[in-house]
Amino acid sequence: LAGSQTGFTQLIGQERVAKMLAAAVANQATSHAYLFTGPDGTGKMEAARELAAALCCAEGGCGRCDSCVKARRGTHPDIETVSPAGAFITVDQIRELNRSINLFPGEGRARVIIVTDAAALGAESANAFLKTLEEPPEFVSFIIMARRADLVLPTIVSRCQEVRFGPVPPAVIEEHLVGEYDESATMARTYAAISGGNLALAESFCRDAELRLRRKRYMEIAQDLTRGGSGPHLLAAEVMDMAGKAEEAEAAAADEVPEGFGGASSGRKRRDAHRRATAARKRELDRFLGTLQSWFRDMTACAAGAREAVINMDYALELEQEALESRVAEYRRAAEAVAAARRQLGYNIDLELALLALFHRLQEVL
Ligand SMILES: [Zn+2]
Repeated sequence: LAGSQTGFTQLIGQERVAKMLAAAVANQATSHAYLFTGPDGTGKMEAARELAAALCCAEGGCGRCDSCVKARRGTHPDIETVSPAGAFITVDQIRELNRSINLFPGEGRARVIIVTDAAALGAESANAFLKTLEEPPEFVSFIIMARRADLVLPTIVSRCQEVRFGPVPPAVIEEHLVGEYDESATMARTYAAISGGNLALAESFCRDAELRLRRKRYMEIAQDLTRGGSGPHLLAAEVMDMAGKAEEAEAAAADEVPEGFGGASSGRKRRDAHRRATAARKRELDRFLGTLQSWFRDMTACAAGAREAVINMDYALELEQEALESRVAEYRRAAEAVAAARRQLGYNIDLELALLALFHRLQEVL
């Protein structure tokens, strides 16, 4: 089998991984359990889909047959994807998986289980999953993903072959955005820089006008806060409102299960929907705080005379006008305060209160 037949060569900025997986498929030496580790948006899911396609296709991933087409679309009946319902993969989800695992492949040569975030397995679900992972049927392969291996139960890690995905280099993202999305050089470089190696996020900036509008407003809020702010309460309420809208859009895109769907399970579905909503809101708040942090980092760079270090290049003019040489330390402290607030998002906190506390802190600092 020629390596070029598989879609691994289309993985962007992951040449080493692509070569390794293509060789394993070509030599029929794939592992029964892979652990794909690396930051978000670095192509783990795309690689998992391609590998699953290669395992299910009679020709090792021809890319043309019905099986390959379905695998790439994510609609192949023998490829099952297990994703967190909100913050966690529940033990119910794993029990359902364990029940179906012994079914023979319906169409292809294999059944592939893709677990999109192994760090979301709680202790109980992880142990239930481990049983299946230890003694899977011959025809089952696992592709498990996580940001880092140390976030996953060691007994799971030890049963997998780890494949590491690095952040996509900014220059590679930049080139991709210019080539595929026809972005200007400045915007391509800006999106590459602010997405920090997350190719999927950088692409979202090109595709999603709403995302661009939110970033614009977040940058305005950052400038507003730098000048003393137009009232922490108003700003916190506005940011929460925007996060709520982003969450609604995400839910609509995910085509949520309608309410009142069956008796016993409807409570669970509602809880799952609630968890998903909270997770989506936290993701958007993280984007807001990330934007804010990058603004103050850029202000620090500008004030220190290091303009070449600015990542929000489309705001170069505003940054230069705003940044005062004498206030480098203040800007740095502001960036640190935002970073601290961002770390808190991982905990179970009142999000609006946390924002409010941050805005008050920024008033003190600046
Ligand atoms: Zn095929």
